[in-house]
Amino acid sequence: VVELRQVRKSFNVGQPTEVEVLHGIDLRLMPGQFSAVMGPSGSGKSTLLNIVGLLDRPTGGQLLIQGQETTAMDDARLTRLRGHTIGFVFQYHHLIGAFSALENVMLPMVGLKGFPDAETEGQALRLLGSVGLERWKDTPAARLSGGQQQRVAVARALAMQPALLLADEPTGNLDTRSADAVFELLRQVNREHGTAVLFVTHNPDLARRCDTTLMVVDGQMQG
Ligand code: ATP
Ligand code: MG
Repeated sequence: VVELRQVRKSFNVGQPTEVEVLHGIDLRLMPGQFSAVMGPSGSGKSTLLNIVGLLDRPTGGQLLIQGQETTAMDDARLTRLRGHTIGFVFQYHHLIGAFSALENVMLPMVGLKGFPDAETEGQALRLLGSVGLERWKDTPAARLSGGQQQRVAVARALAMQPALLLADEPTGNLDTRSADAVFELLRQVNREHGTAVLFVTHNPDLARRCDTTLMVVDGQMQG
């Protein structure tokens, strides 16, 4: 699903504060592969995920998503590709607190179609069911527990049936039990739908339960 060839990323290009954060990353992620991303704080993990997720552009190298070279694409094309292939779960869930669990899951679908319909709602309900939250569908997201909110965020990330799920410390703010539940949920999605997952974590126990572990150290891939 994803291939990086010598990907580099600098911030503040052309300014005195210019700094290179990723120094030539090579990486291949196969369909259905569940990969942990580990490494010290500040090593470039989030920067890497933002680039793979087409939220930020590399300043060097090539990024292929589903076999398509993306670095020369315009923003509109990137947005479309992202919407159809990539789902995100972040450490802070970015749900809309005043919207219900169901509405939050429906958002990406409505975003592309422009309007909600019965089919969208049915699909969103099924997704909420798959993360065990059907009975919370009308509860405003702000009133759910951290673990429940993160499960809603996973359901929302799956709304567009992405080939690739990017999870940046999705369990970082959760107690051990909730973290475990969210991790198992990602594993289940991966097994049932063959979704490839890049899972950033500082937790070695969770990393051990992934197919592979990628180590990012000082902006380089180790091992
Ligand atoms: P953590 O484990 O703490 O989340 P990380 O591995 O995700 O760390 P990044 O957030 O990718 O690390 O940051 C890597 C480096 O890039 C850091 O030194 C950070 O200060 C720098 N950096 C990230 N974003 C920017 C930006 N927009 N402008 C300038 N520097 C940035
Ligand atoms: Mg980070």
